[in-house]
Amino acid sequence: MQFSKFGEKFIKNSGILQLMDDLGNALNSEQPINMLGGGNPARIDTVNQTYWSVFKTLAKGDMGSMAIENIGNYSTPQGDAKFIAALVDFFNRHYNWGLTTDNIALTNGSQNAFFYLFNLFGGQFDDTTQGSIDKKILLPLAPEYVGYADAHVDGQHFIAVPPSIEFVQHQGEDGFFKYRVDFDTLENLAELHNGEIGAICCSRPTNPTGNVLTDDEMARLEAIAKRFDIPLIIDNAYGMPFPNIIYSQATLNWNEQIILCFSLSKIGLPGVRTGIVVANPQVVKAISSLNAIVNLAPTRFGAAIATPLLQDDRLKDLSDNHIRPFYQGQAKLAVQLLKQELGDLPSPYNNAMKIHKPEGAIFLWVWFKDLPITTVELYERLKAKGTLIIPSEHFFVGVDTENFKHAHECIRLSIAQDDDTLKKGIATIGEVVRAVYANQ
Ligand code: PLP
Repeated sequence: MQFSKFGEKFIKNSGILQLMDDLGNALNSEQPINMLGGGNPARIDTVNQTYWSVFKTLAKGDMGSMAIENIGNYSTPQGDAKFIAALVDFFNRHYNWGLTTDNIALTNGSQNAFFYLFNLFGGQFDDTTQGSIDKKILLPLAPEYVGYADAHVDGQHFIAVPPSIEFVQHQGEDGFFKYRVDFDTLENLAELHNGEIGAICCSRPTNPTGNVLTDDEMARLEAIAKRFDIPLIIDNAYGMPFPNIIYSQATLNWNEQIILCFSLSKIGLPGVRTGIVVANPQVVKAISSLNAIVNLAPTRFGAAIATPLLQDDRLKDLSDNHIRPFYQGQAKLAVQLLKQELGDLPSPYNNAMKIHKPEGAIFLWVWFKDLPITTVELYERLKAKGTLIIPSEHFFVGVDTENFKHAHECIRLSIAQDDDTLKKGIATIGEVVRAVYANQ
């Protein structure tokens, strides 16, 4: 049997597919596993109790009439109308953006939205002056979310700018760094000036690093987007106002140049596969048209759960008072454990471990400077000892990592696990990394 070029592209063994398979298989193995590898959100009791109480309300009435009304009918391709109305009201109430229902479309998870957006704004374009032109999605700062990497139907159309690295303090302590957008390189990119960029995209907070681009960086990105008349796509999967896993000072803006993507996944509902796109009506129409062809209509169960929680601001309260504090606590614990294990390595590597300043999301990004092996090899050694992390090179989407040492020296670890798993996992990381530096 022969597959089309499209088929061949999507079934080929990408690095990340192999890695995800590895993670899944490891989870099914007999050996106990310290799972610091995945992107699954934590189960937080108070949050789950709230979902359970909405769920019970939906199931009431004649044969659970509210739930059946919702899941027994397709929505329009734009998505569940009640949920969209509740979102419009919620965003206008909290941010005064002046949205109407023409500004919001729903998708089956935000991953689904990125597939649409990257193919709408990246790939072959007809240009009246230049004929056909190949446009790319510009990632202003790599490392970025690995789930973007293979989203184009044909080829890969990303270009990314490696970060500037600034050594910073975190809560009065040394041993941290923060990535900054290298605007000198970005603003002088030939592709930007030649009309070869179709959109700019960044996640904020960023998966994998927990970096939060500053308001100033966002304003500069928006100015570039306006100047070249391309959309600025902001992936808000971990951002404000839900799940609001963000600890630094940041504001959220929207206007017609910006495409804001939200998700219900990191509030603890990844299985309902609900993504939310806030954009100008032309983009919303394009997403609805794609939905009709690819999905007929987006799923509605997440909409049923989230609508009442938006209407009375319970979702905001859960995010501010339960979800964010949970992850902030886990980030603090993980930093403490890492510093205990690796804060003081023997010379000449004394200060070799640096942690990206934890500003949000559900991960820590740890840099082992001058590590004698790549973190892909480190990943294998840790896996053999029952601890899973993700090595850094996969996250440098759009960057040639061959001669970029830093891209092979970092790991991402999830902090969504319970204290015991964090303790055991980080103890193993400490043991293995110490041995690697000692050349064992
Ligand atoms: N964007 C980022 C930064 C993510 O980390 C993820 C998932 O891990 C997604 C988007 C996609 O999430 P979902 O499709 O579950 O909304």
